[in-house]
Amino acid sequence: MLPVKKHSPSLLPAVLCGLFLFLLLMPLCASAESADPYFSKSDYNDVVAEAADAVITLEGDHGTLSDTTRGRSGNPVVIERKGIYRITGSSDGVTIQIREPKKSGNVYLILENVSMVSRDGPCIASLASEKTIVQCTGDSSLTCSADQGAALYAEDDLTVNGSGRLNIESGKNGIQCRGVLRITGSRLLVRAENDGLKGKHGIYMDGGSVTVEKSYEGLEGGQVLVFDGNLQVTASDDGINAASDEGRLQGDVRISGGTVAIHASGDAIDSNHSIVIDGGTVLAEGPGNNRNSIFDKGDGADAVLCVNGGTVLAVGSAEKAKNFSGGTQYSRLEPVSGHAGDVISADDSSGVQLVASRDFSCVIYSSPSFTESSRIQITSGSPAGRADLEQDPSVIAENPFMAVAVQEALEGITYQQGGPFGCVIVKDGEIVGRGHNTVLTAHDASAHGEIQAIRDAGQNLNTHDLSGCDLYTTGEPCPMCLFACLWANIDRVYYGCTIEDNSVIGFRDGGFSEMVDKEALPDNYLVCIDREACLRLFEEYQRLSHTLY
Ligand SMILES: [Zn+2]
Repeated sequence: MLPVKKHSPSLLPAVLCGLFLFLLLMPLCASAESADPYFSKSDYNDVVAEAADAVITLEGDHGTLSDTTRGRSGNPVVIERKGIYRITGSSDGVTIQIREPKKSGNVYLILENVSMVSRDGPCIASLASEKTIVQCTGDSSLTCSADQGAALYAEDDLTVNGSGRLNIESGKNGIQCRGVLRITGSRLLVRAENDGLKGKHGIYMDGGSVTVEKSYEGLEGGQVLVFDGNLQVTASDDGINAASDEGRLQGDVRISGGTVAIHASGDAIDSNHSIVIDGGTVLAEGPGNNRNSIFDKGDGADAVLCVNGGTVLAVGSAEKAKNFSGGTQYSRLEPVSGHAGDVISADDSSGVQLVASRDFSCVIYSSPSFTESSRIQITSGSPAGRADLEQDPSVIAENPFMAVAVQEALEGITYQQGGPFGCVIVKDGEIVGRGHNTVLTAHDASAHGEIQAIRDAGQNLNTHDLSGCDLYTTGEPCPMCLFACLWANIDRVYYGCTIEDNSVIGFRDGGFSEMVDKEALPDNYLVCIDREACLRLFEEYQRLSHTLY
């Protein structure tokens, strides 16, 4: 029997909160990216063998170029002019180099049942060319045992397309370019000691299938955009890593179609900026340990982790797992534990499945059919290991900011970080800071939700002065937090449960509160709203195992 921690799902403020955050984050989250601006016609252009300007025939330790006005035969074979080159045969130790320094046009390489082995440097290296397009037909393989560079390398943009198969084995990176790497076709199988696919300015995929069977980081690019295709990644570190921070879009991961399946020992998806899922199917396995996240977005104030469409089923360690916090589609983070080899199924008619390769302790799920009123079952391993994901609308706070505060509090009590106290700070209708009580796990008696949110807002707004901000908290502030609000120049405090309610569930607020003269506060400084929803949150807290302090 699998150990499955079942958490009553009756409390999450789903749709209101999702819709609301969508409105907040609309400029960043709303519009699904179209593939158009990222690709040109040449990326999809199927050139035919008959149209080839020259043929490169590989045999043993020698390569022959049929038209010597276009470059030279031997080892390496050198291509010096733009055009279409058909490559056939098999070689051992021969490399192909493109050196077209005028950069007068595209160089197309049609790989037609090619087998190349190289021990020093890339099998194919485009060292100077406007753009290199590798089109796979038949069944080809590039094996490079060198521990630097890549089996297929380009100094500038590189596109891989076609309908054939290409197996890549590399002592360093599988495919690497210093421009944008685009995949629009072919069936790629990559085994690399370092990164599977690497594109300095980005990796864009719009078709074909890529299986990175072995890698350190599966895909590493300035930004990683998947519009269509089938991407399967196994990585001993991050599955997808968008590492660059040059320019606004750089460092983003956006998935808007296709199927992406990741088994990563590091983060499943790590982005220096936003992670946005607009469509497609994303199956992700993050780390079983606590060092990494399933989805790890950047720290910048405008970086978002949001889902607007598609189906997502992800598992990993609960410690650092974060649910999507924006976008138009409802999602849930649920503690469910399982082991390597378990099949995780989300039974909501889409029937998505993920096979775990290591232990996990939480599930993140989102799909178009998973809404406030729907019910799905997440099953792991044996039939006994399941969590019903169900939403009870009666606990949704009417005020959308309070709804987010409740969600913050739920996160804290789910992982037993502290009391049922979540908080958001709002300026000009936007959430500028949020946090929840982490007194127990932070070993910090001052780590109340309000204090956490004030610190978060200060960091985000780059100031200690929160004039013009309102604070929403699930429980009436204790004297420490009340005075912190005054120090921070918070305009007004909206709270759910009262000091008396806090005392009922065992907190010592009452005694402390008596030491404060509330008459001295500005008029209407403390306003009670959504008490019913917050009382339900307190009930949930009492139902779960908890430690008072
Ligand atoms: Zn407090």
